Amino acid sequence: MNIHEYQAKEILQNYGVTVQTGIVANTPDEALEAAKQVQANSGQSWVVIKSQIHAGGRGKGTIIGSEQHGVALAKNLDQAKEIAKNLLGNTLVTIQTGPKGKVVNKILVAEDVYYPGASEPKEYYMSVLLDRQTSQNVIIYTTEGGMDIEEVAEHTPEKIYKEWIDPLTGLTGFQARKIAYNLGLEGQANKEMVKFVMALYSAYVGTDSDMFEINPVLKTSDDRILAVDAKVSLDENALYRHKDLAELRDESEEDPTEVEAKKSNLNYVKLDGNVGCMVNGAGLAMATMDIIKLSGGEPANFLDVGGTANAQTVEAGFRIILSDPNVKAILINVFGGIVRCDRVAQGVVDAYKNIGNIPVPIIVRLQGTNAEEAKKLIDESGLKVFSAIQLKEAAELVKQVLS
Ligand code: GDP
Ligand code: MN
Repeated sequence: MNIHEYQAKEILQNYGVTVQTGIVANTPDEALEAAKQVQANSGQSWVVIKSQIHAGGRGKGTIIGSEQHGVALAKNLDQAKEIAKNLLGNTLVTIQTGPKGKVVNKILVAEDVYYPGASEPKEYYMSVLLDRQTSQNVIIYTTEGGMDIEEVAEHTPEKIYKEWIDPLTGLTGFQARKIAYNLGLEGQANKEMVKFVMALYSAYVGTDSDMFEINPVLKTSDDRILAVDAKVSLDENALYRHKDLAELRDESEEDPTEVEAKKSNLNYVKLDGNVGCMVNGAGLAMATMDIIKLSGGEPANFLDVGGTANAQTVEAGFRIILSDPNVKAILINVFGGIVRCDRVAQGVVDAYKNIGNIPVPIIVRLQGTNAEEAKKLIDESGLKVFSAIQLKEAAELVKQVLS
Protein backbone atom coordinates (compact mmCIF):
# COMPACT_ATOMS: atom_id res chain seq x y z
CA MET A 1 0.00 0.00 0.00
CA ASN A 2 1.39 3.37 -0.99
CA ILE A 3 1.09 6.47 1.17
CA HIS A 4 1.69 10.19 0.65
CA GLU A 5 4.99 11.98 1.16
CA TYR A 6 3.67 13.94 4.16
CA GLN A 7 2.52 10.71 5.84
CA ALA A 8 5.84 9.00 5.13
CA LYS A 9 7.72 11.95 6.63
CA GLU A 10 5.63 11.69 9.81
CA ILE A 11 6.64 8.04 10.15
CA LEU A 12 10.28 8.92 9.55
CA GLN A 13 10.20 11.61 12.24
CA ASN A 14 8.71 9.16 14.72
CA TYR A 15 11.78 6.98 14.16
CA GLY A 16 14.19 9.87 14.58
CA VAL A 17 14.94 10.60 10.92
CA THR A 18 15.36 14.31 10.23
CA VAL A 19 13.11 15.52 7.41
CA GLN A 20 12.29 18.67 5.48
CA THR A 21 9.23 19.72 7.51
CA GLY A 22 5.96 21.05 6.17
CA ILE A 23 2.23 21.53 6.68
CA VAL A 24 -0.52 19.91 4.58
CA ALA A 25 -3.13 22.13 2.90
CA ASN A 26 -6.37 21.31 1.04
CA THR A 27 -7.26 24.81 -0.21
CA PRO A 28 -5.30 27.90 -1.37
CA ASP A 29 -6.34 29.71 1.83
CA GLU A 30 -5.07 26.88 3.97
CA ALA A 31 -1.88 26.95 1.91
CA LEU A 32 -1.43 30.63 2.66
CA GLU A 33 -1.83 30.05 6.42
CA ALA A 34 0.52 27.06 6.21
CA ALA A 35 3.11 29.15 4.36
CA LYS A 36 3.00 31.83 7.09
CA GLN A 37 3.53 29.15 9.72
CA VAL A 38 6.38 27.52 7.79
CA GLN A 39 8.04 30.92 7.33
CA ALA A 40 7.80 31.55 11.08
CA ASN A 41 9.23 28.13 11.94
CA SER A 42 12.11 28.23 9.46
CA GLY A 43 12.90 31.93 9.69
CA GLN A 44 13.01 32.13 5.89
CA SER A 45 10.68 33.70 3.34
CA TRP A 46 10.96 30.98 0.67
CA VAL A 47 8.74 27.89 0.89
CA VAL A 48 8.31 24.86 -1.37
CA ILE A 49 4.87 23.72 -2.52
CA LYS A 50 4.64 19.99 -3.20
CA SER A 51 1.72 18.11 -4.80
CA GLN A 52 0.68 15.09 -2.75
CA ILE A 53 -0.14 12.27 -5.18
CA HIS A 54 0.82 8.60 -5.15
CA ALA A 55 3.44 8.99 -7.86
CA GLY A 56 6.95 10.35 -8.17
CA GLY A 57 8.51 12.58 -10.79
CA ARG A 58 6.46 15.52 -9.53
CA GLY A 59 9.29 18.03 -9.83
CA LYS A 60 9.55 17.48 -13.58
CA GLY A 61 5.84 16.78 -14.11
CA THR A 62 3.39 19.49 -15.17
CA ILE A 63 -0.28 20.28 -14.64
CA ILE A 64 -2.37 19.57 -17.76
CA GLY A 65 -2.99 22.80 -19.68
CA SER A 66 -0.38 24.88 -17.86
CA GLU A 67 3.35 25.24 -17.23
CA GLN A 68 2.99 24.61 -13.51
CA HIS A 69 5.36 21.95 -12.14
CA GLY A 70 4.20 19.56 -9.41
CA VAL A 71 6.89 20.79 -6.99
CA ALA A 72 7.59 24.52 -7.03
CA LEU A 73 9.47 27.13 -5.06
CA ALA A 74 7.56 30.18 -3.78
CA LYS A 75 9.61 33.26 -2.92
CA ASN A 76 6.82 34.96 -0.98
CA LEU A 77 3.28 34.42 0.32
CA ASP A 78 1.58 35.66 -2.87
CA GLN A 79 3.50 33.17 -4.95
CA ALA A 80 2.70 30.40 -2.46
CA LYS A 81 -1.03 31.03 -2.81
CA GLU A 82 -0.76 31.34 -6.60
CA ILE A 83 1.06 27.99 -6.91
CA ALA A 84 -1.47 26.36 -4.56
CA LYS A 85 -4.28 27.60 -6.84
CA ASN A 86 -2.51 26.23 -9.92
CA LEU A 87 -2.11 22.81 -8.31
CA LEU A 88 -5.19 22.05 -6.21
CA GLY A 89 -8.04 20.38 -8.08
CA ASN A 90 -5.96 20.09 -11.24
CA THR A 91 -4.38 17.09 -12.93
CA LEU A 92 -0.66 16.46 -12.67
CA VAL A 93 1.07 14.31 -15.28
CA THR A 94 4.48 12.81 -14.44
CA ILE A 95 6.48 9.93 -15.94
CA GLN A 96 4.99 7.75 -13.22
CA THR A 97 1.30 8.70 -13.54
CA GLY A 98 0.81 7.79 -17.20
CA PRO A 99 -0.81 10.25 -19.63
CA LYS A 100 -4.08 10.40 -17.67
CA GLY A 101 -2.31 11.94 -14.69
CA LYS A 102 -3.57 12.30 -11.12
CA VAL A 103 -5.72 14.99 -9.54
CA VAL A 104 -3.93 16.97 -6.82
CA ASN A 105 -6.22 17.06 -3.77
CA LYS A 106 -3.60 17.97 -1.17
CA ILE A 107 -0.35 19.89 -1.14
CA LEU A 108 2.51 20.00 1.31
CA VAL A 109 3.83 23.47 2.11
CA ALA A 110 7.43 22.76 3.12
CA GLU A 111 10.43 24.73 4.40
CA ASP A 112 13.07 25.62 1.79
CA VAL A 113 16.12 23.58 2.76
CA TYR A 114 18.36 24.54 -0.18
CA TYR A 115 19.45 27.80 1.46
CA PRO A 116 22.94 29.18 0.74
CA GLY A 117 25.74 28.79 3.29
CA ALA A 118 29.27 27.57 3.88
CA SER A 119 28.98 24.82 1.24
CA GLU A 120 26.66 23.91 -1.64
CA PRO A 121 23.64 21.72 -0.73
CA LYS A 122 24.23 18.22 -2.12
CA GLU A 123 21.63 15.59 -3.11
CA TYR A 124 22.06 11.85 -2.45
CA TYR A 125 19.80 8.85 -3.09
CA MET A 126 18.97 6.13 -0.59
CA SER A 127 16.40 3.33 -0.47
CA VAL A 128 15.76 0.28 1.68
CA LEU A 129 13.97 -2.78 0.33
CA LEU A 130 13.99 -6.56 0.28
CA ASP A 131 16.39 -8.29 -2.08
CA ARG A 132 14.52 -11.49 -2.95
CA GLN A 133 17.63 -13.05 -4.48
CA THR A 134 19.57 -13.02 -1.19
CA SER A 135 16.53 -12.99 1.13
CA GLN A 136 18.09 -9.99 2.86
CA ASN A 137 17.18 -6.37 3.21
CA VAL A 138 19.39 -4.11 1.15
CA ILE A 139 20.23 -0.42 1.33
CA ILE A 140 20.79 1.05 -2.12
CA TYR A 141 22.54 4.42 -2.24
CA THR A 142 24.49 6.78 -4.45
CA THR A 143 26.03 10.23 -4.41
CA GLU A 144 24.12 10.95 -7.64
CA GLY A 145 20.71 11.67 -6.07
CA GLY A 146 18.02 14.00 -7.34
CA MET A 147 15.62 14.05 -10.23
CA ASP A 148 17.79 12.17 -12.73
CA ILE A 149 18.19 8.94 -10.77
CA GLU A 150 16.80 6.80 -13.63
CA GLU A 151 19.61 8.08 -15.89
CA VAL A 152 22.21 7.15 -13.26
CA ALA A 153 20.86 3.60 -13.06
CA GLU A 154 20.97 3.30 -16.86
CA HIS A 155 24.25 5.03 -17.78
CA THR A 156 26.50 4.84 -14.70
CA PRO A 157 25.29 1.85 -12.64
CA GLU A 158 28.78 1.55 -11.08
CA LYS A 159 27.98 4.66 -9.04
CA ILE A 160 25.22 2.81 -7.21
CA TYR A 161 26.25 1.04 -3.99
CA LYS A 162 24.43 -1.76 -2.21
CA GLU A 163 24.71 -2.82 1.42
CA TRP A 164 23.05 -6.11 2.40
CA ILE A 165 21.87 -6.57 5.98
CA ASP A 166 22.15 -9.80 7.90
CA PRO A 167 18.73 -10.48 9.45
CA LEU A 168 20.36 -11.80 12.65
CA THR A 169 22.53 -8.77 13.42
CA GLY A 170 20.41 -6.09 11.77
CA LEU A 171 22.14 -3.00 10.41
CA THR A 172 25.43 -2.55 12.28
CA GLY A 173 27.17 0.72 13.16
CA PHE A 174 30.06 -0.38 11.00
CA GLN A 175 27.81 -0.67 7.95
CA ALA A 176 26.24 2.74 8.57
CA ARG A 177 29.73 4.30 8.83
CA LYS A 178 30.79 2.57 5.61
CA ILE A 179 27.78 4.08 3.83
CA ALA A 180 28.60 7.59 5.11
CA TYR A 181 32.21 7.08 4.02
CA ASN A 182 31.25 5.84 0.53
CA LEU A 183 29.11 8.95 0.16
CA GLY A 184 32.28 10.98 0.70
CA LEU A 185 31.10 12.64 3.90
CA GLU A 186 33.37 13.97 6.62
CA GLY A 187 33.06 15.58 10.03
CA GLN A 188 29.59 16.62 11.20
CA ALA A 189 27.85 15.54 7.97
CA ASN A 190 29.37 12.06 8.29
CA LYS A 191 28.07 11.68 11.87
CA GLU A 192 24.63 12.92 10.83
CA MET A 193 24.51 10.46 7.94
CA VAL A 194 25.34 7.53 10.23
CA LYS A 195 22.43 8.50 12.49
CA PHE A 196 20.21 9.04 9.44
CA VAL A 197 20.90 5.58 7.99
CA MET A 198 20.37 3.81 11.33
CA ALA A 199 17.06 5.62 11.95
CA LEU A 200 15.87 5.07 8.36
CA TYR A 201 16.54 1.35 8.62
CA SER A 202 14.68 1.07 11.94
CA ALA A 203 11.70 2.87 10.36
CA TYR A 204 11.68 0.37 7.48
CA VAL A 205 11.84 -2.65 9.80
CA GLY A 206 9.52 -1.22 12.46
CA THR A 207 6.71 -0.53 9.99
CA ASP A 208 7.03 -3.85 8.08
CA SER A 209 7.48 -1.91 4.86
CA ASP A 210 8.16 -3.14 1.34
CA MET A 211 10.19 -0.07 0.49
CA PHE A 212 11.45 3.25 1.78
CA GLU A 213 12.92 5.46 -0.94
CA ILE A 214 14.44 8.82 -0.03
CA ASN A 215 15.37 10.88 -3.06
CA PRO A 216 16.89 13.29 -2.43
CA VAL A 217 18.61 12.84 0.90
CA LEU A 218 20.05 16.31 1.31
CA LYS A 219 23.24 17.58 2.88
CA THR A 220 22.39 21.19 3.64
CA SER A 221 24.87 24.03 3.34
CA ASP A 222 25.38 23.80 7.12
CA ASP A 223 26.02 20.04 7.09
CA ARG A 224 22.66 18.73 8.26
CA ILE A 225 21.37 15.53 6.64
CA LEU A 226 17.64 15.32 5.93
CA ALA A 227 14.97 13.56 3.89
CA VAL A 228 13.57 16.03 1.34
CA ASP A 229 11.30 13.43 -0.25
CA ALA A 230 9.93 10.11 0.99
CA LYS A 231 8.27 7.34 -0.93
CA VAL A 232 7.00 4.50 1.24
CA SER A 233 5.25 1.30 0.31
CA LEU A 234 3.77 -0.61 3.25
CA ASP A 235 3.34 -4.39 3.20
CA GLU A 236 -0.44 -4.98 3.02
CA ASN A 237 -0.06 -8.42 4.58
CA ALA A 238 1.43 -6.85 7.71
CA LEU A 239 -1.13 -4.07 8.11
CA TYR A 240 -3.08 -6.11 10.67
CA ARG A 241 -0.13 -5.45 13.00
CA HIS A 242 -0.24 -1.70 12.34
CA LYS A 243 -3.77 -0.39 12.70
CA ASP A 244 -2.46 3.21 12.76
CA LEU A 245 -0.69 2.71 9.42
CA ALA A 246 -3.70 1.00 7.83
CA GLU A 247 -5.59 4.25 8.43
CA LEU A 248 -3.19 6.11 6.13
CA ARG A 249 -4.85 4.49 3.10
CA ASP A 250 -6.08 7.09 0.58
CA GLU A 251 -8.67 5.32 -1.58
CA SER A 252 -9.01 8.34 -3.88
CA GLU A 253 -5.50 7.52 -5.14
CA GLU A 254 -6.39 3.93 -6.02
CA ASP A 255 -8.23 2.44 -9.00
CA PRO A 256 -11.96 2.46 -8.00
CA THR A 257 -12.64 -1.06 -9.29
CA GLU A 258 -9.63 -2.37 -7.37
CA VAL A 259 -10.95 -0.72 -4.20
CA GLU A 260 -14.38 -2.35 -4.84
CA ALA A 261 -12.72 -5.74 -5.37
CA LYS A 262 -10.78 -5.49 -2.12
CA LYS A 263 -14.06 -5.01 -0.24
CA SER A 264 -15.21 -8.42 -1.56
CA ASN A 265 -11.82 -9.96 -0.76
CA LEU A 266 -10.99 -10.36 -4.44
CA ASN A 267 -7.53 -9.88 -5.84
CA TYR A 268 -8.15 -7.73 -8.92
CA VAL A 269 -5.77 -5.84 -11.19
CA LYS A 270 -7.17 -4.01 -14.19
CA LEU A 271 -5.46 -4.48 -17.56
CA ASP A 272 -6.10 -3.11 -21.05
CA GLY A 273 -7.41 -6.18 -22.95
CA ASN A 274 -10.86 -7.47 -24.00
CA VAL A 275 -11.23 -10.84 -22.24
CA GLY A 276 -12.20 -10.70 -18.60
CA CYS A 277 -11.06 -13.60 -16.46
CA MET A 278 -12.03 -15.06 -13.12
CA VAL A 279 -9.80 -17.73 -11.64
CA ASN A 280 -9.10 -19.42 -8.31
CA GLY A 281 -5.43 -19.13 -7.42
CA ALA A 282 -2.83 -16.61 -8.53
CA GLY A 283 -0.70 -19.11 -10.47
CA LEU A 284 -3.69 -20.43 -12.41
CA ALA A 285 -4.75 -16.83 -13.08
CA MET A 286 -1.35 -16.11 -14.64
CA ALA A 287 -1.57 -19.28 -16.77
CA THR A 288 -5.10 -18.32 -17.84
CA MET A 289 -3.91 -14.93 -19.00
CA ASP A 290 -1.29 -16.72 -21.13
CA ILE A 291 -4.00 -18.98 -22.62
CA ILE A 292 -6.10 -15.95 -23.49
CA LYS A 293 -3.14 -14.39 -25.31
CA LEU A 294 -2.38 -17.63 -27.15
CA SER A 295 -5.96 -17.80 -28.39
CA GLY A 296 -5.72 -14.30 -29.84
CA GLY A 297 -7.31 -12.27 -27.05
CA GLU A 298 -5.84 -9.84 -24.55
CA PRO A 299 -6.64 -10.21 -20.83
CA ALA A 300 -8.78 -7.37 -19.49
CA ASN A 301 -7.79 -8.09 -15.93
CA PHE A 302 -6.17 -10.35 -13.38
CA LEU A 303 -8.74 -11.68 -10.92
CA ASP A 304 -8.05 -14.27 -8.26
CA VAL A 305 -11.23 -15.18 -6.35
CA GLY A 306 -9.23 -17.24 -3.86
CA GLY A 307 -10.34 -20.48 -2.26
CA THR A 308 -14.05 -19.70 -1.90
CA ALA A 309 -15.62 -19.48 -5.34
CA ASN A 310 -19.29 -19.30 -4.24
CA ALA A 311 -22.27 -17.45 -5.76
CA GLN A 312 -21.44 -14.31 -3.81
CA THR A 313 -17.80 -14.01 -4.84
CA VAL A 314 -18.60 -15.01 -8.43
CA GLU A 315 -21.30 -12.32 -8.57
CA ALA A 316 -18.94 -9.67 -7.17
CA GLY A 317 -16.36 -10.81 -9.73
CA PHE A 318 -18.87 -10.55 -12.61
CA ARG A 319 -19.89 -7.04 -11.58
CA ILE A 320 -16.31 -5.82 -11.34
CA ILE A 321 -15.30 -7.35 -14.68
CA LEU A 322 -18.44 -6.00 -16.40
CA SER A 323 -17.76 -2.46 -15.17
CA ASP A 324 -14.94 -2.43 -17.76
CA PRO A 325 -16.49 -1.46 -21.15
CA ASN A 326 -13.64 -3.12 -23.09
CA VAL A 327 -14.67 -6.62 -22.01
CA LYS A 328 -15.99 -8.70 -24.95
CA ALA A 329 -15.99 -12.12 -23.27
CA ILE A 330 -15.41 -13.64 -19.83
CA LEU A 331 -13.39 -16.76 -19.15
CA ILE A 332 -13.92 -18.47 -15.81
CA ASN A 333 -11.22 -21.01 -15.03
CA VAL A 334 -11.56 -22.88 -11.76
CA PHE A 335 -9.71 -25.88 -10.45
CA GLY A 336 -11.80 -27.83 -7.97
CA GLY A 337 -9.37 -29.17 -5.42
CA ILE A 338 -10.88 -28.32 -2.07
CA VAL A 339 -13.83 -26.47 -3.60
CA ARG A 340 -16.20 -28.75 -5.57
CA CYS A 341 -16.79 -27.86 -9.23
CA ASP A 342 -20.55 -28.40 -9.08
CA ARG A 343 -20.79 -25.86 -6.25
CA VAL A 344 -18.84 -23.34 -8.30
CA ALA A 345 -21.05 -24.06 -11.33
CA GLN A 346 -24.16 -23.48 -9.19
CA GLY A 347 -22.53 -20.25 -8.01
CA VAL A 348 -22.01 -19.13 -11.60
CA VAL A 349 -25.62 -19.94 -12.53
CA ASP A 350 -27.01 -18.17 -9.44
CA ALA A 351 -24.81 -15.12 -9.92
CA TYR A 352 -25.78 -14.94 -13.60
CA LYS A 353 -29.50 -15.06 -12.73
CA ASN A 354 -29.02 -12.43 -10.01
CA ILE A 355 -27.31 -9.99 -12.34
CA GLY A 356 -29.85 -10.66 -15.08
CA ASN A 357 -28.71 -9.78 -18.53
CA ILE A 358 -24.97 -10.28 -19.05
CA PRO A 359 -24.20 -8.78 -22.47
CA VAL A 360 -21.05 -10.82 -23.25
CA PRO A 361 -20.51 -14.56 -23.74
CA ILE A 362 -19.13 -16.49 -20.78
CA ILE A 363 -16.88 -19.51 -21.02
CA VAL A 364 -16.59 -21.66 -17.94
CA ARG A 365 -13.87 -24.22 -17.55
CA LEU A 366 -14.19 -26.34 -14.41
CA GLN A 367 -11.71 -29.10 -13.73
CA GLY A 368 -11.30 -31.34 -10.70
CA THR A 369 -13.76 -32.74 -8.16
CA ASN A 370 -17.24 -33.25 -9.70
CA ALA A 371 -16.23 -31.63 -13.02
CA GLU A 372 -18.74 -33.70 -15.04
CA GLU A 373 -21.66 -32.74 -12.79
CA ALA A 374 -20.58 -29.12 -13.04
CA LYS A 375 -20.54 -29.21 -16.86
CA LYS A 376 -24.02 -30.75 -16.85
CA LEU A 377 -25.30 -28.04 -14.52
CA ILE A 378 -23.99 -25.31 -16.82
CA ASP A 379 -25.19 -26.96 -20.05
CA GLU A 380 -28.71 -27.47 -18.64
CA SER A 381 -29.04 -23.97 -17.15
CA GLY A 382 -30.32 -22.50 -20.42
CA LEU A 383 -27.99 -19.51 -19.96
CA LYS A 384 -25.57 -18.08 -22.51
CA VAL A 385 -22.67 -19.87 -20.86
CA PHE A 386 -20.28 -22.23 -22.66
CA SER A 387 -18.67 -24.96 -20.63
CA ALA A 388 -15.41 -26.82 -21.05
CA ILE A 389 -13.34 -29.25 -19.03
CA GLN A 390 -10.04 -29.09 -20.90
CA LEU A 391 -8.18 -25.80 -21.01
CA LYS A 392 -7.63 -26.26 -24.75
CA GLU A 393 -11.38 -26.44 -25.32
CA ALA A 394 -11.81 -23.27 -23.29
CA ALA A 395 -9.17 -21.50 -25.37
CA GLU A 396 -10.93 -22.63 -28.58
CA LEU A 397 -14.20 -21.24 -27.25
CA VAL A 398 -12.59 -17.90 -26.46
CA LYS A 399 -11.25 -17.75 -30.01
CA GLN A 400 -14.70 -18.57 -31.43
CA VAL A 401 -16.63 -15.98 -29.43
CA LEU A 402 -14.10 -13.26 -30.26
CA SER A 403 -14.20 -13.85 -34.01
P1 GDP B 1 9.69 14.23 -6.99
O1 GDP B 1 10.06 15.00 -8.22
O2 GDP B 1 8.29 13.71 -7.05
O3 GDP B 1 10.67 13.16 -6.66
O4 GDP B 1 9.66 15.28 -5.75
P2 GDP B 1 10.82 15.74 -4.73
O5 GDP B 1 10.23 15.87 -3.41
O6 GDP B 1 12.02 14.87 -4.84
O7 GDP B 1 11.17 17.20 -5.25
C1 GDP B 1 11.67 17.42 -6.54
C2 GDP B 1 12.82 18.38 -6.51
O8 GDP B 1 12.43 19.63 -5.96
C3 GDP B 1 13.99 17.95 -5.62
O9 GDP B 1 14.82 17.03 -6.28
C4 GDP B 1 14.67 19.28 -5.38
O10 GDP B 1 15.59 19.54 -6.43
C5 GDP B 1 13.54 20.27 -5.44
N1 GDP B 1 13.25 20.72 -4.05
C6 GDP B 1 12.61 20.04 -3.09
N2 GDP B 1 12.60 20.71 -1.94
C7 GDP B 1 13.25 21.87 -2.19
C8 GDP B 1 13.59 23.02 -1.40
O11 GDP B 1 13.34 23.09 -0.20
N3 GDP B 1 14.24 24.03 -2.03
C9 GDP B 1 14.59 23.98 -3.33
N4 GDP B 1 15.23 25.02 -3.88
N5 GDP B 1 14.32 22.93 -4.10
C10 GDP B 1 13.65 21.88 -3.54
MN1 MN C 1 12.00 12.71 -5.18
